[in-house]
Amino acid sequence: MKYDIVIIGGGPAGLSFAASMIDANVKVLLLERSDIDAIANPKEDGREIALTHLSVKILKKLKIWSLIDQSQVSPLKEAKVFDGDSPPLLNFKPDQKGIDALGYLVPNYLIRKALYDRVNDAQNIDLVTDSLVKDVKQGDSSSTVMLNSGENINTKLVVAADSRFSEIRRKVGIPTLMKDFSKVMIITKMKHEKSHNNTALECFDYGKTFALLPMVGDASSIVITVKTNESQNMLDMPEEEFNNFVTEFFKGEFGKMTQDGTRHSYPLIGTHAQAFVAKRFALIGDASVGMHPVTAHGFNLGLRGQNVLANLVQDALAHGQDIGSESLLKLYQKKHINLTRLMFFGTNGIVALFTNDAPVIKQVRRFVLKFAENFPPIKYIISHHLTEAKENKFLPF
Ligand SMILES: Cc1cc2nc3c(=O)[nH]c(=O)nc-3n(C[C@H](O)[C@H](O)[C@H](O)COP(=O)(O)OP(=O)(O)OC[C@H]3O[C@@H](n4cnc5c(N)ncnc54)[C@H](O)[C@@H]3O)c2cc1C
Repeated sequence: MKYDIVIIGGGPAGLSFAASMIDANVKVLLLERSDIDAIANPKEDGREIALTHLSVKILKKLKIWSLIDQSQVSPLKEAKVFDGDSPPLLNFKPDQKGIDALGYLVPNYLIRKALYDRVNDAQNIDLVTDSLVKDVKQGDSSSTVMLNSGENINTKLVVAADSRFSEIRRKVGIPTLMKDFSKVMIITKMKHEKSHNNTALECFDYGKTFALLPMVGDASSIVITVKTNESQNMLDMPEEEFNNFVTEFFKGEFGKMTQDGTRHSYPLIGTHAQAFVAKRFALIGDASVGMHPVTAHGFNLGLRGQNVLANLVQDALAHGQDIGSESLLKLYQKKHINLTRLMFFGTNGIVALFTNDAPVIKQVRRFVLKFAENFPPIKYIISHHLTEAKENKFLPF
């Protein structure tokens, strides 16, 4: 069997790009190392993905949004940022008339399930699980994808979506910047007595960071970032003690808070590939940029990037051009890499500032938040960025 495109990795990015190719005149192979159950019936993993309006627009275009159980989608109407025990120093609301939310929180496993269901139905896509890609050899007119099983597959374009620790990126020789934050995020769902009013809270405390992401009903995803050597204690803390710890942190604002799920942990390592393309090869999703989750941009950037690449491939097909040409791939990189660099280094800068508890820096932290609150262009840029649904206006500059 000959394939026009081979996608490596059946995570959210790889499946999104496959979904983008459903109506195109191409034969696509998607290879995933996990077994079918992990992809077809993904388990709850604690991640609540905050989607921007552009992401929702792309998911609607791909006919995936309607496959997500809408009763589990929680609109994010407001966001507040705190520093230490300060009152809210920075507040965000939608800036445009007719827009009721900054974004939408959707459980990650529901997004993955919807993506799988859509791709699995497609006639032009073969999805093969239990299939580990070992290497890629690039040629002038085609590339060869080499499987662990010994099988080799020839294709015009290889798209790697094999995670932020992409082995294939390394084998193809693309250098990557890695930032180890030496912190771990612990996430769990908690029920509470009082409403969250669909408001997200980001609390840059000293030593720890807490976030509350409003889920459907009187429930929230609680995200606690701690030093790596404190994470096991936080994971092992008896439930009653954990409930009291979180309830007290929020000063009883939500009444008694009760854990309603498993505690999940994620070590924090950010990555940014120095190039997104090589000969007949493109990186998408976390394989191109693996963000620190604090600004909730990983999958949003992944969706945008695959959309940029998919549009260029569709355009080349419409004009009878080569879908793996150097000019197409360079254009993809040009349209996406500057934005991801800005988001990656901007986010890392925020993390560096708001996790530094030196007395002088604490003053700077408060000054920065107060300045941002009282300087309308900054708030406009951030709110606009979340609610803008046009790809070329992802940022208004
Ligand atoms: C705690 C947390 C909260 C987050 N919150 C948000 C948020 O609010 N908003 C947001 O936009 N993003 C968020 N993200 C980021 C988002 O979850 C990721 O960006 C997204 O899951 C990345 O998808 P991906 O498909 O690129 O990579 P992955 O999900 O890592 O998938 C990679 C796939 O490739 C497969 N694979 C790897 N190597 C091979 C190989 N050699 N051969 C075959 N298959 C292979 C793997 O098995 C896997 O299935 C969050 C992340 C975390 C950790």
